[in-house]
Amino acid sequence: MPMYVYACQACGQRFEEMKRMAERRDAPPCPACKSQDTELGLSAPAVFGGTGAGGAPTNYGSSGNCFSGG
Ligand SMILES: [Zn+2]
Repeated sequence: MPMYVYACQACGQRFEEMKRMAERRDAPPCPACKSQDTELGLSAPAVFGGTGAGGAPTNYGSSGNCFSGG
């Protein structure tokens, strides 16, 4: 089932809902303010919302001094 992004026109909240393609027009109420004034947004949940897709934080710098003054 594809995931759709909806944008609340009342408070600007954006949320994702898993819906069928035939039901994507049936915008669900806003989970934040319970407003029915929501619109279907971009169906690209990867745009925002960081999903843990690997990637360890590197810690470079400020560790050890190795000056080679010749
Ligand atoms: Zn809202």
